[in-house]
Amino acid sequence: MARSIYFFGAGQADGDAQQKDLLGGKGAGLAEMTRLGIPVPPGFTLTTEVCNAYYAAGKVLPAGVEDEIEAAIGRLESLLGARFGSPEAPLLVSVRSGARASMPGMMDTILNLGMNDEIAAGLARRTGSERFALDAYRRFILTYSDIVLGVPRDRFEEALGRARRDAAARLGVDATRLNAAELERKVPDSLLDPASLAALVQRQKEIVLGATGSPFPDDPRAQLGGAIRAVFDSWNNHRAQVYRKMHDIPEAWGTACNVQAMVFGNLGDDSGTGVAFTRDPSTGERRFYGEWLPNAQGEDVVAGVRTPHPLSRSGPGGGATSGGGATSGGVATSDDADDASSLEARMPEAYAQLVAVQARLEQHFRDMQDLEFTIQRGELFLLQCRTGKRTGRAAVRIAVEMAREGLISQREAILRVDPGSIDQLLHPSIDEGAPKRLLARGLPASPGAATGQVVFSADEAERRAGQGKAVILVRSETSPEDIHGMKAARGVLTARGGMTSHAAVVARGMGKSCVAGCSAISVSQGQMAVTIYDEHGHATGSITVKAGDLITLDGGTGRVYLGAVPTVPAALSGEFEELIGWADAVRRLRVRSNADTPHDARTARNFGAEGIGLCRTEHMFFDEERIHAVREMILADGEAGRRRALAKLLPFQRGDFVGVFREMAGLPVTIRLLDPPLHEFLPQDEAQLEQLSRSVGVSAKELRRKSQELAEYNPMLGHRGCRLAITSPEIYEMQARAILEAACEVAAAGIEVEPEIMIPLSMTRRELAITRALVEGVAEQVFAEKGRRVDVRFGTMIELPRAAIMAGELAEEAEFFSFGTNDLTQTTLGISRDDAGRFLGAYVEAGIFAKDPFQSLDVPGVGALIELARDRGRAARPGLKLGICGEHGGDPSSIGYFERAGLDYVSCSPFRVPVARLAAAQAALTAESARGPRATD
Ligand code: ADP
Ligand code: MG
Ligand code: MG
Repeated sequence: MARSIYFFGAGQADGDAQQKDLLGGKGAGLAEMTRLGIPVPPGFTLTTEVCNAYYAAGKVLPAGVEDEIEAAIGRLESLLGARFGSPEAPLLVSVRSGARASMPGMMDTILNLGMNDEIAAGLARRTGSERFALDAYRRFILTYSDIVLGVPRDRFEEALGRARRDAAARLGVDATRLNAAELERKVPDSLLDPASLAALVQRQKEIVLGATGSPFPDDPRAQLGGAIRAVFDSWNNHRAQVYRKMHDIPEAWGTACNVQAMVFGNLGDDSGTGVAFTRDPSTGERRFYGEWLPNAQGEDVVAGVRTPHPLSRSGPGGGATSGGGATSGGVATSDDADDASSLEARMPEAYAQLVAVQARLEQHFRDMQDLEFTIQRGELFLLQCRTGKRTGRAAVRIAVEMAREGLISQREAILRVDPGSIDQLLHPSIDEGAPKRLLARGLPASPGAATGQVVFSADEAERRAGQGKAVILVRSETSPEDIHGMKAARGVLTARGGMTSHAAVVARGMGKSCVAGCSAISVSQGQMAVTIYDEHGHATGSITVKAGDLITLDGGTGRVYLGAVPTVPAALSGEFEELIGWADAVRRLRVRSNADTPHDARTARNFGAEGIGLCRTEHMFFDEERIHAVREMILADGEAGRRRALAKLLPFQRGDFVGVFREMAGLPVTIRLLDPPLHEFLPQDEAQLEQLSRSVGVSAKELRRKSQELAEYNPMLGHRGCRLAITSPEIYEMQARAILEAACEVAAAGIEVEPEIMIPLSMTRRELAITRALVEGVAEQVFAEKGRRVDVRFGTMIELPRAAIMAGELAEEAEFFSFGTNDLTQTTLGISRDDAGRFLGAYVEAGIFAKDPFQSLDVPGVGALIELARDRGRAARPGLKLGICGEHGGDPSSIGYFERAGLDYVSCSPFRVPVARLAAAQAALTAESARGPRATD
């Protein structure tokens, strides 16, 4: 290990923005800002390598690191003219974690470290505020005890309550009948006087002694060592693990640890702290945006305990555009109270400086930045900058606008947007016309509509979601312990907290609907009371919502409705169309959709599908009117009976295909002939069986016998796919006829059709030869009857390892292959997708598979078969068309592989089509840059 510590301060830094891997995002950002001459409190970063070495040595700091820390503290001391551990000129520090990828609120930060009784007294003298010094001290003890000493925060609740009562008595407030929440409202932290705080500090120390058996560490150096170790330990705490897993962050990255001189936003009304975004993280609008609190420290803004104020005035002349930093004349929608409390109004100089800094940072990093700042007695300090998290909608708008502004290229814009995040743009929103009952309004923290049952705890959210219920997690505010519940919920509603509260930030990251800071609700004892206001803002009554009741959130407007509200399909923004247009221009892979009905086909086409890659005919069979004929066919004893029943199905199937061909005019439509085993179509329960027995005139007993006869031990590997056609060719004959008659009919109407008939589950050349002859025979008949020919391609799915191995032979019969990667994964791994739920999670957890192979293609295994089939197939038939249908066709990382593997197209569900178009473009750009630099860009 080269060096363990990177120092930053006074305009110079050992590290820079490029060193995120080593310094973590926070450390790299602090170093870079320092280099840019932006005011940052000095400090130093212990690298991620130190963290990894710490774990490798069994949680021991590597030799020499302590000395380096001591030297760095010395540098800080001489820079600031203060001394760590000295009551005369105390140096206090924060100890902050910071991994390579940002993990908001996932790890623990300790503020105001380096205190004991004498130092607190010294700090009081130096700042002239005893109250401030004692408040900082008691907060430090609380956090340090919780994070480093393992004495949970709530153990101190009672002591804090006592301090409030002491203060109340001194203030002459009668607190005898107030509960904890009321007491906190009457005597907030800011009213705790020095005497109450001093008593609180001593009580907290007693609690620590009682809980740990040792006194609270008074030696600042011992405190620092403990805190650094705790930061490294926090890399492996439960919530960090959950977050890492959700975001595919490898454990091996480790976290860096930043030790930084404290600045204080809680030194009075000329101080404050806040967070800011260079553009709106929710909509992407180019305006400087953020929140702050006067006289507050650290997490106060994001913790959601006090509701923060806006940074900018909203009225004409208020606010600033990002990047440029010029003031803009906004629309006059000003809310006077908000305006008066804005940073712009309260501290115009610090605000102007902040506006200049944010513009500089956005220009420098060429992306939207998320900033943390503190103002200490009028003086501005930046404490963090990083690439800001944003909604999918904001990501698209920011990328497109930055490309238009010339800040980034179109190619960069394409690569900037995470394809997974645009999913949320494509999902339905509230139907504004539908009748609905407005319950309350909060902040529009993360867009999208979500309906679900109300739950009040993360565990309950997880439990009910596990039973397949849609749930909305309702909390006063969320904290990192709620992550698993937020993940399980469809949406999140909080009573407190702003647009940058934990709930808002995490929900946006997850692409979940969130309404935050909904002050009309109050949550307690397993129910939520909602105050109802009339249009003048007068409370007119209240409603109680209990666990299990349905509510609907509109995260785009902040509205909360009672009950389920209907939704309407997504409307895509102009920016989105523009971005996807740029993507289409660089993409090589074609994108088709899986669509079984004319309606799905239309949706797919609207989303830009370039054909249908998989039209499953069996879904057409389940329709009320048709299932009867299907069952009749299955139950018929001989071929003649089967043909009679199939004749009834023919017009239905033909009608469906006519609809699909019309929707997809001019584009290829791949239709798969019947695939599932026949018993899937028989009634599953006794009542249905009785009913069927009456209507087909076959005894229930006989039906049961037939049903048992068809039952299989392993349907996935049973009598299905083209195996059905080998035993009962008349089924495929009917389907081929329906397809070809429909094609002729649509062609006769002057509409271009491109049917592709696809045989499922083949593995031998002979199966294809037989089914092909069958299809061609029907085709000749139909063409003769209709007096016209249409071009029809014949191909097969590749779903079995044998099919991939024998691809050379299969390609002699098939004009195209479509890899059915769901079944190909099942058959290659020998894992049934339906049974995998019980153990696949453990496989992923144990690192046996990096990801669920049914979601993200198993490239080394299944991919090898795909490549084998590709090579053998194309050798036998040059120009053989190769596609993918199956979940993987819509998975961005799998799409990256399909691009590299040189396939022709992917096919995915209609809503995934834009995701796939973007992912395919990114894959093409990535593949291109891997091949080497282009002559021009
Ligand atoms: P997180 O990654 O959870 O945001 P941070 O390390 O950024 O954690 O710190 C938590 C809070 O404490 C932030 O609001 C940050 O701005 C504030 N903070 C951290 N270090 C300092 C410092 N040296 N002086 C003042 N405030 C600080
Ligand atoms: Mg934080
Ligand atoms: Mg932070």
